[in-house]
Amino acid sequence: MNTNLPVTVLKGVGDKKSNTLEKMGIKTIDNLLNYYPRDYEKNMPVNKISDIKMNEVNVIEGIICLNAQNIRKRNIVITKTKIRDDTGEIFAIFFSQPYLKNKLKIGNRYVLKGKVQYKYNIIQIVSPEIIDVNNYKMRINRLKPIYPLIKDVSMNFMTSIIQQSLNYTKDQLKDFLPDDIRNSYNLAEYNYAINQIHNPDNNESMEVARKRLVFDEFLLFALGLNLIKEHSTDIPNNYNIDKSTNEKKLLDSLPYKLTNAQLKVWDEIKNDLQSSKTMNRVVQGDVGSGKTIIAALALTIVSDNDYQACMMAPTEVLAKQHFESVTKILNPLGINVELLVGSMTKKQKEETYEKLKNGEINILIGTHAVIQEKVEFKNLALAITDEQHRFGVKQRENLSNKGNSPHILVMSATPIPRTLALIVYGDMDVSIIDEMPPGRQKIETYTVNTSYRERIYSFIEAQINSGRQVYIICPMVEESETLELESVISYTEKIREKISNKIKVEYIHGKMKAKDKNSIMERFSNNEIDILVSTTVIEVGVNVPNATLMIIENAERFGLAGLHQLRGRVGRGKHQSYCVLITDSKNNITKKRMEIMCKYTDGFIISEYDLKLRGPGDIFGFKQHGLPEFNIGDIFRDMDILKEANILAKDILEKEKLFQEEYKYLNKKIKKYFDKRINQISL
Ligand code: ADP
Ligand code: MG
Repeated sequence: MNTNLPVTVLKGVGDKKSNTLEKMGIKTIDNLLNYYPRDYEKNMPVNKISDIKMNEVNVIEGIICLNAQNIRKRNIVITKTKIRDDTGEIFAIFFSQPYLKNKLKIGNRYVLKGKVQYKYNIIQIVSPEIIDVNNYKMRINRLKPIYPLIKDVSMNFMTSIIQQSLNYTKDQLKDFLPDDIRNSYNLAEYNYAINQIHNPDNNESMEVARKRLVFDEFLLFALGLNLIKEHSTDIPNNYNIDKSTNEKKLLDSLPYKLTNAQLKVWDEIKNDLQSSKTMNRVVQGDVGSGKTIIAALALTIVSDNDYQACMMAPTEVLAKQHFESVTKILNPLGINVELLVGSMTKKQKEETYEKLKNGEINILIGTHAVIQEKVEFKNLALAITDEQHRFGVKQRENLSNKGNSPHILVMSATPIPRTLALIVYGDMDVSIIDEMPPGRQKIETYTVNTSYRERIYSFIEAQINSGRQVYIICPMVEESETLELESVISYTEKIREKISNKIKVEYIHGKMKAKDKNSIMERFSNNEIDILVSTTVIEVGVNVPNATLMIIENAERFGLAGLHQLRGRVGRGKHQSYCVLITDSKNNITKKRMEIMCKYTDGFIISEYDLKLRGPGDIFGFKQHGLPEFNIGDIFRDMDILKEANILAKDILEKEKLFQEEYKYLNKKIKKYFDKRINQISL
């Protein structure tokens, strides 16, 4: 059965439609079969005409009591008839379907489903669906799938092409799960599952189908992930890290005490460095939980033992900021910290390469520049990556290849629950900083619509007049870079006009030269700029404690994780901070998101909601989360299945079952599934 045929073989799918479908990730029949409903609607029971609800969709059953007439009005034909049940009668009207005149004859019995309205002095059911009475009786208990849609793709169209695909496959799909797995986990057969997910007989059969498909998805994920990581476990520790000359001095020099959570995590890292195995650890901590100092401590004790250590950050702004804060605490201890970023001159870079090679540099902090070919360390023993979700597998591997299996430490500002982290990070050990430094104020958060803009501008001025600074995040109208530029720039111009000219407004965006970005960020850091209008370039890591107001335009364009990250740029100093989310969206999920942002500041709580609220098509969610997006599985709701699938995957790989004949199709499926996703998973 070839399900890799293009969607254009289906009725109603031309070039234009197929382009639209491609935007939804649908190219083949197979993709359609795996395009699962996001929810189901139960068919409504029939309403008596006397009980009709105005301005709502009603289902009525009755006998046509007026031969349909066609009335021509301007360019359209309106067909008008009347239907009666034992409680009353009602007009029904249809547009541009003149042929209905022959169908809607006196005495015929139908079920009509449509919105009832009072118009032109009569009560009428408008453009109802006409359903055969017996068909409706059969349908009444069935669940009707609701598919996630985008513009130009209607529910009817989606349903039709999925039904066509099901008809095409005629239950001939190969079940790739071996029988023994299906039996031991009580899983439905594949064709049954696919059919029932799209056309469930009832609630139970839908759940049975869903369980099978969720299991598939998690199993494939776990297998793929474990395959990727297989080579990276249990490497012996090549380094002798037993001195910690500067640890205490460093801790004593800080103007604060580490929180208990920081102390615990630091202890875990220190133990790793001194153990017989190479460290492979991820530190998860919400924005502002104080991960940098933990990294600095690790860098320090490695350097205390005469090895080199390196920290890589995703942007130049962030690398510089780390460099500055780490230098400030380590230089007094006599530790030599250097920076390596793309915008340095060739000569500067060359000098740094030289000093790295001969061991003059103890600690290197930089961007992707540190994994360039020319970079050679004398004895790299620790590689730290900050904001892990910004780097791909390859880049992180490149960094560790700069040493002889150095210790690996990954910092992540994506808080996810521990059980989940253990699976998603696979063979890495997980440390969690689940406590904020004391004295942090809650960032007051509000959601408003665009009609509040003028008032917000006065709020901005008030903040600036009291010495504070402001971020404004501007919409990225399209993915297109040029539009992105325009919107940030024109917004900046607009706000300069509106606001007192004593206030300095600048913008920053992703397409600017690193040098210009840095200079803007530096000026903002030094309080030479009052308002920074920005795309999401500032999202990661930046620390300007004097900034107390974050305004996010078109807030509906961000997922919860993204909003949380952005908001984390304020509330970093001693002043009360605010976040204003501006949106005109009436979408329910958006509203929920905004409510959650206003209510919670704890990243772990927000991340749980984020995972629950993210639906297919939520393009921002995934990237900013760094977690894989599942089609049908829900990491929270289906946590048990995720765990089961994870154990099974490990067992399959341990016993090398994928090479067995019964596992042939599963093996193929993993390859297919992971070709597509391997680039998405930044682990
Ligand atoms: P993130 O986890 O987001 O990387 P940072 O490391 O940038 O957070 O820390 C945010 C701020 O909190 C910094 O200004 C840092 O100096 C401060 N900080 C870190 N740990 C503590 C602590 N235990 N007590 C008080 N302030 C702290
Ligand atoms: Mg940080």
